[in-house]
Amino acid sequence: MDIPRIFTITESAHRIHNPFTAEKLATLGAVLRLKSGTRVLDLGSGSGEMLCTWARDYGICGIGVDLSRLFSEQAKLRAQELGVGNRVEFIHGDAAGYVAAEKVAVAACVGATWIGGGVAGTIGLLAKSLNPGGILLIGEPYWLRLPPTEDIAKGCGAGSIADFLTLPGLIASFDELGYDVVEMVIAGQEGWDRYEAAKWLTMRRWLEANPNDDFAKEVRVQLTEEPKRYVTYTREYLGWGVFALMAR
Ligand code: SAH
Repeated sequence: MDIPRIFTITESAHRIHNPFTAEKLATLGAVLRLKSGTRVLDLGSGSGEMLCTWARDYGICGIGVDLSRLFSEQAKLRAQELGVGNRVEFIHGDAAGYVAAEKVAVAACVGATWIGGGVAGTIGLLAKSLNPGGILLIGEPYWLRLPPTEDIAKGCGAGSIADFLTLPGLIASFDELGYDVVEMVIAGQEGWDRYEAAKWLTMRRWLEANPNDDFAKEVRVQLTEEPKRYVTYTREYLGWGVFALMAR
């Protein structure tokens, strides 16, 4: 049970697998006014940077669930490195349908809303683990400007224009689902560059170390094409943010 191998190659050196910098992640923790001992659930927790740094900086405790064996292992190592191994737990597994045994004050899905079949489904899933009055966190892309063609949407890595909303559309969709948007932290272009461009050096190093691997051809194509694709499409058209929601 694991995610497609290409991600474990391209993002093996990432601590944060989304367009947030370490500073944005800290800002998100700060604006949520997290108190020591707050219980946080993170579905699609990746390499655990959010839970581990929030445990270190704000004293939260938490559970992360992620389908990647590599990222889950990295998360456990990071927890030890930051001295928070007793506060956070990382489970390797499918988060689809995961409901926490003990309810939490903050339930998050940051950049992995396919886990619940989209934003609305993921909100419904997270809500099952949430204490009354708790906060949901949804990390999601949106169109900075609407792609004029479906080809441009595909160039951004979307299946179609309909896969994402604009920022006003996304905010309105939370309202329509019966949630107050109580905070948001939006990624900047620097964060996007860190997330995307960091993959290129990782791919280059991987290719040098694994020239005869079955995947080398595919990684070679990606390394050649990705910088052009990213600056032409994603960097121009896609935004990303984390939205804090409370049920009305
Ligand atoms: N929230 C993390 C990771 C975002 S990347 C961060 O911001 O750094 C998306 C993550 O979803 C990856 O770590 C991937 O392994 C994980 N993932 C994909 N499908 C999943 C599933 N069905 N269940 C749990 N995790 C999943």
